[in-house]
This record gives sequence, structure tokens and C-alpha cells, in this order.
Amino acid sequence: MRISKSKFVAGVQCLKRLYFEVHQPELATGATEAAEAVMEQGQQVGLEARKAFAGGVLVADDHEHLDDAIRATRELVGNAEVPAIFEAAFAYGSVLVRADVLERRSRSRYRLVEVKSSTAPKPHYAFDIGIQKLVLSGAGIHLEGTRLMHLNRNYVFDGQAYEVSRLFVTVEIPKEHAVGDAEISKRLDEQLRILGQPAPPDVKPGRQCEDPVLCEFYNHCNPGLPSDHVSVLPRIRSEKVDDLLASGILSVRQIPDDFPLSRTQRRVVDAMKSGKTWIGPDLARALASLRYPICFMDFETVFPALPRFAGLRPYDQLPFQWSVHRQERSGGPIQRHDYLAEDIADPRVPFLESLCRAVKGAGSIVVYNEGFESDRLDELLQWLPEYRSEITRIKAAMWDLLPVIRKNVYHPLFGGSYSLKSVLPALVPEMSYDGLAVMEGAQAGIAWGRFIDPATSAEEKAQLKQELLEYCGQDTLGLARILEVLRKLPRAPAS
Ligand code: SF4
Repeated sequence: MRISKSKFVAGVQCLKRLYFEVHQPELATGATEAAEAVMEQGQQVGLEARKAFAGGVLVADDHEHLDDAIRATRELVGNAEVPAIFEAAFAYGSVLVRADVLERRSRSRYRLVEVKSSTAPKPHYAFDIGIQKLVLSGAGIHLEGTRLMHLNRNYVFDGQAYEVSRLFVTVEIPKEHAVGDAEISKRLDEQLRILGQPAPPDVKPGRQCEDPVLCEFYNHCNPGLPSDHVSVLPRIRSEKVDDLLASGILSVRQIPDDFPLSRTQRRVVDAMKSGKTWIGPDLARALASLRYPICFMDFETVFPALPRFAGLRPYDQLPFQWSVHRQERSGGPIQRHDYLAEDIADPRVPFLESLCRAVKGAGSIVVYNEGFESDRLDELLQWLPEYRSEITRIKAAMWDLLPVIRKNVYHPLFGGSYSLKSVLPALVPEMSYDGLAVMEGAQAGIAWGRFIDPATSAEEKAQLKQELLEYCGQDTLGLARILEVLRKLPRAPAS
């Protein structure tokens, strides 16, 4: 049996994951659109990184032609004229690896370069590099060192062409992450032993299921918990969950009155036991601070690894869509406004100018989790300082509904969460997110990428546009509807 670099790394995360990948891959949840987008982005980063190695040659044979890839690599290694090899393939013992870059340092000595689309080294990269080192050494390659090449978060794109020497940072694996050859060999032996067994190892789900990456067998090992499971309590520590489960208490409704909980957690327990909405004493006062006209505002962004426009850095958030619902007076009609960037041109100026028009003169601009919109406006101010007064006015009128709800309202159907996706359907049941083609921000970013792609058909574009407008508009109309519900809730006695 032969395992790959990625299987070895999966096995470091969890031996059961490795076992499933090799013997029962059908148990995996299919790659999500988001996971596919991350993979595609990683490939683009890899292509840029190769530009740092002029004259490098790619081993193009894919995973279905590995013997050809190994043969081609051997020929390139033997050709002293080749300064670098991309996707070099080596097999040693039971492991096969493809090296991102094998850089020739002298006639017979090389440096192994692992390319990552992250902006900093991460501990698990040491295993990635460690297994390659073991295989390359075993295959007779003299390595004079290994390097990690990752994106430079401080690199500012000039809008023309990437300066590859600054777009990336090349470093050694930090000492605190280093893993010795003996440890790599030990892990490999253990993995091969586990793979030879007739059944998967008995590994309980835990933190490793999401760290360092979300395991593709997560749904298999972590079947959905009931909505009243004790772990839904906000910010409950895992030791407390373990205590409750050990006492046979699975449901929030079974938690005894004297079990130590925070005030918020106790509020959730009480609401779920009674089935009644808890209303805090300060709700009416908080809502009284709203001023008309009221705008309900939401932004959508993407954060590409490779910056697309001047002034952007890797992973900077690029706003591409906003939605505003506007109400001029109490009880008056609610008007919808929106902006969606429709092509590959820089959306920042049209985004901001159209937004300024939509919220002009607003007394309060209601958002949900102010930090997000506020940070995006700060970034727009950095890129477009000529809009300082408009941005300052928008920020001054912003009014965050999230802390108001968190402090003053708990509905039994929030399920322990104050996210808009939980709060809106609980307070306004007719506004569920179920059935929307786009249901969350990452999906919106992917849909927008397809929408502006010149290769997308006009028919699909029209469909995507409708889905994006529907999704972003749902959030802001939802804020308006939540406000109506909150205003009708009975007043709690003053604190
Ligand atoms: S979900 Fe968790 S326990 Fe299951 S295979 Fe993945 S990492 Fe291992």
C-alpha cells in the first residue's frame, strides 16, 4: 500500500481520518463549494509562487500517471540545466510525494520549498515538510534545506503586476514547530500499522475534528445533536458539558436549578424550560434611541488570497454588494435599495457612492454586529480618503442590533445562538433562510465570483443575480421585521 503526502498529514490529524480516507472514502461528506473554492485559490497561489523560480520546469503528469511523473522527475533531476522542478514526484517505501518546488542549489544539492496560501507558518506544516524530507532523502536527493513560502499579508498590490519577491515570504519552519525525522518515521510506521487493521481505530470525536482543518468525515463521526443538547448553551466550557453528560443530563431542560452557569446561560435554560421569550428590562430604552429615517444595512465581501486591485493586500476584504431597507417614519413603508457589482472592474467606488446615496440623511443605520460593517468602512476610508466625511457620517449613524438582543431578548428557538440566521427565523418565522439558494456569506462570495465571470452564460448570470439580491435583501428586511417584533414585545419591569 502506498500513501501520499496529504494522506500522511490527514493521519497526523487523526488516525481514523486516514483509515477512512484509504478504506471507506464513501463516508466523507462531499467537498463543499467553499472547500473547492479554497482549493482552487491554493492552486492559483501555487502558480504565482512558481514565478519566483525562473526557468523552473513542471512535471505535468497527474495523479493517474504517477510512474510517468516519477520518471520525468528523475530525468529533470539529472539535467543540471534545470534550476527548479515543480510538482516533482518521488516514491520511497510506502509513501509518494509531490514537492511544490525543488530548487537546485548546486549540481546535486536541492532545497525543498513548500508553498502555502496562508499568511503565516502553522504547526502542522512541519509534518507536511517532514514527510517530504524523509521520502526525498530516501530517494537519494541531497537536500541542503527546506523552506516554507507563504503569502505576505503586508504586501500591497499596485494594481499592475504582482511583485512575486514581495507577495511571498520564504522562511524556515519555526523552531517551535519543528518535528524531528524520528518522529516522522514513528508516525508513518503507526499509520501503516493502522491501515493494515481490519477495522478503523477507536478514536472519539474531539478538537481534532476541526483542527487544523475540518475533517471530511465530521458528519459521520459527529451525528447531529438535538437542538436542546447541553452543548448549545452560549460559551459553555467543554468541562461543564462533560460534567453534565457524565451525570446523564443531555437536554438543557434537564439542567438542575443549582448547576453553576453564567447569567446568559441560565437565561437560555429558563427560556427553554418555560418555552417563553425572556425580555430584559432595558429593551424599550435601547429601542427608543433609534432615529428616523432608519436604514437597515448589510454588506457582502470576498477576501481573495491574491489581491485584485490597487491598494489591496492578500486576504483584504473586498466589498461587492450592499443591501439597504429604508423607512422614513414610524409605521411607514419600507423601501429597498441595493448594489451588486456586475463585472470584474474594481467595485469599491461604485459600492461606496451608491451606498452614500441610499443612506443619505438617515437618523439611524441599523446593522447586525457592527464590527463587520465598521471595519469595511474603515478600509474603504483608507483606500478612498476623499470620502472621509461621508464615511464618518455613516459610521456615526450606525446602530448595532446584536448587543441589544443579546442583552435583552432570548427566544427559546434561538438554540443558544444570537446569529441573525438563528434570531430572524425565531422572531419572524415567515422569514426563514430555508429554501434560499444562497444561505450564507461564503456562498454569496462564490456565487458572485461566478456572476462576474465573463465565461458565465447570460441565463446563469440572471439566476445568480436574483439569488444574491434575495440573500442580502433578506438580511436587511429581516432586521426591519425584527425591530417591528421587538417593539411589540411586552415591557419587562425596569431594572
Ligand atoms: S471526524 Fe474527528 S474522529 Fe472522525 S475521522 Fe475526522 S477527525 Fe477523526
